[in-house]
Amino acid sequence: LVEMRHLRKSFGGHEVLKGIDLTVYPGEVVALLGSSGSGKTTLLRCVNLLEQPSSGRIVIDGAPIFDRAPDGRDNVRIGARDVAAMRSRVGMVFQQFNLFPHMNVLANVMEGPRTVLGESEATNRARALDLLAKVGMADFADRMPGRLSGGQKQRVSIARALNMRPSLMLFDEPTSALDPELVGEVLNTMITLAREGMTMLVVTHELGFALEVATRVVFLDQGAIAAQGTPQEVLLHPTNERVRGFVNRFH
Ligand code: ATP
Repeated sequence: LVEMRHLRKSFGGHEVLKGIDLTVYPGEVVALLGSSGSGKTTLLRCVNLLEQPSSGRIVIDGAPIFDRAPDGRDNVRIGARDVAAMRSRVGMVFQQFNLFPHMNVLANVMEGPRTVLGESEATNRARALDLLAKVGMADFADRMPGRLSGGQKQRVSIARALNMRPSLMLFDEPTSALDPELVGEVLNTMITLAREGMTMLVVTHELGFALEVATRVVFLDQGAIAAQGTPQEVLLHPTNERVRGFVNRFH
């Protein structure tokens, strides 16, 4: 579904991604772990071109969306319309929710399909209400985001991303801005989604989530993949020194 080859990204002279090769297959739930500053967020943002890689290749759903040689030559050039089309298939949930503050919950969930997909109001509304029910937020359709808890906002963000009917969902530390008692409700929503077969790439510090639902764990260290495998292999029997140090911090 997503294929990244030799992906590199520098900010100024600082190389944050040092040649990442990663493929996410349909139905996989890949947990992206690593210590702070290892490049997880940057990698995730490169997938849907919120961040422009320095070089490398990205293919989504069989379509190359980025392909730049190390010398800077572009082998693929896609326009704004193609980027928008790609983003409509790739849902993203951020640490800071990013809901539209001046719209109520239902309007937030309906906004993408309304503006991007040009869908009929009735179809959009029916699916939005279904999704709000699915994330346990049906009773809050008329609420403004300012009057929701962090966990509720995050569940609305998930419903909003799902309303675009994405084939892939990206999550960037979706629970790290939440009070501890609200983390569970968001993780449960994500677990349900994973069990339904949604393809997911999740940057997280929740080792429990990774162990329970990830089909694969990818451990990033200083911009390179230091280890990957099943959660049991990588997290319970780490052979890599850096992974061992990382996991031990959580005991
Ligand atoms: P964390 O767990 O703390 O979010 P991370 O693994 O997600 O960390 P990134 O956010 O991808 O790491 O950042 C990797 C490195 O890239 C950091 O050193 C960061 O300072 C740098 N970086 C990220 N975004 C930018 C930017 N827009 N401009 C300059 N440097 C950046």
